[in-house]
Amino acid sequence: MQTMTESDPSSERGTAGGESADVALARSQAQMAEIAAQHGAAPQEGKPVVLGLENVAVSYSGHQAVRGVEMNIHKTLVTAFIGPSGCGKTTLLRSLNRMNDLIPGAEVTGRITYHGHDLNAAGVDPVEVRRRIGMVFQRPNPFPKSIFDNVAYGLRLHGMKDNLHDRVEKALRQAALWDEVHKRLRSSALSLSGGQQQRLCIARALAIEPDVVLMDEPASALDPIATQRIEDLVAELKNDYTIVIVTHNMQQAARVADMTAFFSVDVAESGARCGILVEHAPTVELFTRPSDERTEAYVTGRFG
Ligand code: ADP
Ligand code: MG
Repeated sequence: MQTMTESDPSSERGTAGGESADVALARSQAQMAEIAAQHGAAPQEGKPVVLGLENVAVSYSGHQAVRGVEMNIHKTLVTAFIGPSGCGKTTLLRSLNRMNDLIPGAEVTGRITYHGHDLNAAGVDPVEVRRRIGMVFQRPNPFPKSIFDNVAYGLRLHGMKDNLHDRVEKALRQAALWDEVHKRLRSSALSLSGGQQQRLCIARALAIEPDVVLMDEPASALDPIATQRIEDLVAELKNDYTIVIVTHNMQQAARVADMTAFFSVDVAESGARCGILVEHAPTVELFTRPSDERTEAYVTGRFG
């Protein structure tokens, strides 16, 4: 086993004993290309645009966190946001269902359309926006209530109380959790494992029949088996939903996403750092034939 130091980049890529970093890198790239190749070369073709972003920027108390974002998010595809920490992935995701409205000092400029309608126009009800565009967070955040009441929560809030039990069951089935919990729907959600809690949060988001589901690193707090289940679930859900998923795990993006958006941090002469969208393309293209050298450096692991 070769000695690894903190500064040895191969140590982060789990180089196997004796294998040089270059060989390991080539191997992982070939693997990534193979994984990404399972997605179509032009998955967006013929798919309507659900969310349109035109020159979108978000700032906090006057400091820009991300700017100049132009992209279309297409129906029933999975779109991944990848890029280094701090490049504005979460910030941008929150702007897609007006969650930034809840953050004091946050300001969104540019134009975001949802099925062609300006999401931020006067008269648009942010509560209705969030019913149609649901969100799942990095850490599972079930309410300290029963499993049933967690899923029923949004239904009650939005007055969708007819067939409550059927709706809860449907959402739990969609989130691949029903079989594990149907005998203990009245137990506390907090008694579930981390992976089950995250699937419960997905069920809670699905119960109110959204059209888009935003997921911010939904598996980052989970073990590999629970992560696999979330990835399988995402693959299943995209038949019915439009999904945007933030991930810091490139393999995960290659596995689950039809389209991938790579963000980076632009550092101004003043030292100000701001996130920018570098490239948005079909996943297979972004991982195998990136058009921008910054994307290439990131996906090949030469830049972290
Ligand atoms: P990422 O998700 O890509 O790691 P974030 O969107 O969390 O990036 O952060 C982008 C930038 O915005 C960072 O500089 C971060 O410090 C800043 N930021 C994020 N959330 C807030 C907030 N609630 N208030 C102020 N600054 C924030
Ligand atoms: Mg984030």
